[in-house]
Amino acid sequence: MNIAILPGDGIGPEIVAEAVKILDALDEPFEMDTADVGGAAYASQGHPLPEPTLRVAKQADAVLFGAVGDWQYDKLPRPLRPEQAILGLRRELALFANLRPAILYPELADASSLKPEIVAGLDILIIRELTGDIYFGQPRGRRSSPDGAFAGADEAFDTMRYTRPEIERIARVAFEAARTRKAVGHPGKVTSVDKANVLETSQLWREVVEDVHADYTELALDHLYVDNAAMQLVKAPKSFDVVVTGNLFGDILSDEAAMLTGSIGMLPSASLDASSKGLYEPSHGSAPDIAGRGIANPLATILSAAMMLRYTFARSESAGRIEAAVQTVLGRGLRTADLMPRGTQAPALQLVGTAEMGDAVVSALRAQ
Ligand code: NAD
Repeated sequence: MNIAILPGDGIGPEIVAEAVKILDALDEPFEMDTADVGGAAYASQGHPLPEPTLRVAKQADAVLFGAVGDWQYDKLPRPLRPEQAILGLRRELALFANLRPAILYPELADASSLKPEIVAGLDILIIRELTGDIYFGQPRGRRSSPDGAFAGADEAFDTMRYTRPEIERIARVAFEAARTRKAVGHPGKVTSVDKANVLETSQLWREVVEDVHADYTELALDHLYVDNAAMQLVKAPKSFDVVVTGNLFGDILSDEAAMLTGSIGMLPSASLDASSKGLYEPSHGSAPDIAGRGIANPLATILSAAMMLRYTFARSESAGRIEAAVQTVLGRGLRTADLMPRGTQAPALQLVGTAEMGDAVVSALRAQ
């Protein structure tokens, strides 16, 4: 179980250190190699994703990634900006499936902008296809026209494109995830989101998802148009289990789902290749505004490590133990600053820093 540890910039090193503490506490035979990425790698080696870092990431079974980006690098040319590292890793590691759970622990129901009864206990998984769709089609416009044919033209377009194998493999990830979740009490339902009433790509999408479903008849499948899905996510979010969708719709819906929980510091993510190798990272960025102060919430990164155990190492039990330990700590009232309700007196809550939160999760894990 070889893990590449890429802490990155801003709060990245602080939050990744806490996730490593948790992994160490499991007493499993992990091997970890640490490398610079993003602005840190630009500073040390002149490139956000230097060859040695890419090698470490390629050789590992999984990558635990903090975050990249810092204001001091904003003026660099685009290929050298820290954010290019994450795009490069997705491309080089062929990470086509992005998994983003939106979980709202009952203890944090007040953090959501929706009514607690609508979101308390929410636990859904959004699966976004990551390497196809309109972002990778044929763009035409001022900036992307190599022959200059469109230069100055008052027209631009992007082509939305999907192939059967691309849809098949993401659908399979969704059904496999729903099956794994069903084993621990989820409904075992996949909702496929498209725009099949208008788009050819979506009609193919729907047809292929139906075909793959034939291998998973114990799971329910339904289809929603993306506009309706956007509405249902705020109206009745708990009616979803696993949602699978293309790159463009997934980009928007996964952010919408994330905000249902109201706490960006809590949301993990996984990006997987065809053989379950994965890159695991919190959904938030490098938060340069609070970096170095020891106040960042490490839970999204700790929960990303739990996803790593579940999806790359098939250690669902250990993953569940980490998730239960996080819930225990929240239940005891420990909160980093981002989770503190504003403007209310909350005497039962205790404000803690990054390392204290990590230590508390380790203690809860040991006490299980
Ligand atoms: P951000 O997610 O870093 O921060 C948004 C707000 O949330 C900030 O106020 C921050 O303090 C807070 N926040 C984020 N994570 C937190 C945590 N764990 N605990 C407590 N508070 C937290 O987004 P941004 O400010 O738009 O971007 C900052 C930098 O991060 C930029 O350079 C951006 O490009 C980069 N970024 C990187 C990734 C990535 O590495 N995958 C993703 C998004 C943004």
